[in-house]
Amino acid sequence: MTDTDARPLVAVVPGDDAAPEAMTASLGVLDALDLPVRLDILPDGAELGRMEAGEREAFVIERLDAADTVLFGSSNGTTPGLAHLRWGRGTFANVRPVQWRPGYRSPMARPEGLDYVIVRENLEDAYVGIMGNVEDLRASGLIGPRARLVYEGEGRYAAKIITRAGTERVARFSYQLALKRAERSGRHPSLTVSAKTNMLPATDRYFADIVAEIGAEFPDVKLTRYIVDDMAHRLVTSYDELDVLLLPNLYGDVLSDLAAGTVGGMGLAPSGCYSENYAYFESAHGTAPDIAGQERINPTATLLSAVMMLEHLGLDRPAARLDAALSAVYAEGRHLTVDQGGTATTSEFAAAVTDRL
Ligand code: ATP
Repeated sequence: MTDTDARPLVAVVPGDDAAPEAMTASLGVLDALDLPVRLDILPDGAELGRMEAGEREAFVIERLDAADTVLFGSSNGTTPGLAHLRWGRGTFANVRPVQWRPGYRSPMARPEGLDYVIVRENLEDAYVGIMGNVEDLRASGLIGPRARLVYEGEGRYAAKIITRAGTERVARFSYQLALKRAERSGRHPSLTVSAKTNMLPATDRYFADIVAEIGAEFPDVKLTRYIVDDMAHRLVTSYDELDVLLLPNLYGDVLSDLAAGTVGGMGLAPSGCYSENYAYFESAHGTAPDIAGQERINPTATLLSAVMMLEHLGLDRPAARLDAALSAVYAEGRHLTVDQGGTATTSEFAAAVTDRL
């Protein structure tokens, strides 16, 4: 490795609890792809946990910032860096593909039509961290007539913020993704937007209206709007009508886990978080502490996140090879992990994927 090495640098963060087991197995598969990338593998949470918190954060962030992109194992808070990758790097679009493949243990009767992408706005909404005592709202005169009628005494509030600029950029990203997907599938480009537009006009209708307004720049994309409770129902009953689904942060967080459930579970759910010129990748599941140390975690979500990362780096061929190898292992069904009804350990599953490359 020299300073003039043109290969992209990928920081690999193993994460906490069971996540490092998924990452170690995934790195074995990536190794077999012989990728034109350099890997900077950070210590896992157990090792990072021995550092003092401030020092740990600075250490991890420096390594993340030195890299072109990041493959991040799930964190329970011990491994720092996620807030930096989101708000620090402005990764406003959290992309979560929802795609069934033969062999996935879906609870749906007809999972064949499950193939869409959720784009979750990643920086705004109820995750802006504005929380406090209701008393402060009362004192500032911000409490509305309905709340004044019902709520007395002690209480807490959390505010959500939806901005025009934040909504416009994630809307454009989603329309462009719809066009890209239509190019591949040959279907008519379509975008669905959903929020609680009826009850929350100030934020949620505002969000959906701005998305509709940006639609004027993308006349070929058909836009459909649903209220978010109806949307939850449709994710179970009418998923085959979906292609790209754009949601504000909180609904996106909740509904993408529901969507992962329809496909076959969190172990199959990848994600990528994008800004205009940067992206990082992580499985959508948590650290699965209940199965840590048992070699039971399914590394598929991590490997599919790696597929997204390779596509982001322009490495379409190895991305397609890895994607096809995963599909082949599921179609064959002989080396599946426990969450998918099999008996394979994490590393046995990964070895089967490597064999298929
Ligand atoms: P978080 O709050 O970070 O989302 P959590 O504990 O609520 O964490 P997960 O860590 O995603 O959620 O775990 C939820 C359940 O799903 C657990 O029983 C866990 O073992 C299981 N699970 C999650 N990811 C996987 C995986 N990759 N393979 C197998 N089981 C998994």
